[in-house]
Amino acid sequence: MSTNSRLHSILFNKCPRCQQGDFFVTNSAFSRNFDKMHEHCPHCGENFMPEPGFYWASMFVSYAFYTIYSLITFAIVVKWLAIDLDYFLVGLVPTLILLTPYFFRLARRTWLSIFISPRPNRVHLPEGGI
Ligand SMILES: [Zn+2]
Repeated sequence: MSTNSRLHSILFNKCPRCQQGDFFVTNSAFSRNFDKMHEHCPHCGENFMPEPGFYWASMFVSYAFYTIYSLITFAIVVKWLAIDLDYFLVGLVPTLILLTPYFFRLARRTWLSIFISPRPNRVHLPEGGI
């Protein structure tokens, strides 16, 4: 996978601009500080908080991920493996709860990547430092 792509930054916790700096403080979605973000990219200084409430809309991106995950698991479990729908529903809810931190982080990175195009060679540090 090219490191100069939006998909790379979304999947690997990287800055959507330079593809080098980390987006979240920790690389694991299942750690205590899974929701802690850098305010600026530690490598290029890109602002990760463009405006107050910017990430409010990422909730809808997260909803799309939940829906896609549910439909894919439904197709595999109920249609392909022919397991009863009740077992699928009982298993679906805990997995959705367990995947909440992962989808939270994925949705925020996706939402910011929509608005920032990748420029891996650009290094811009804001005035006054990071
Ligand atoms: Zn960066």
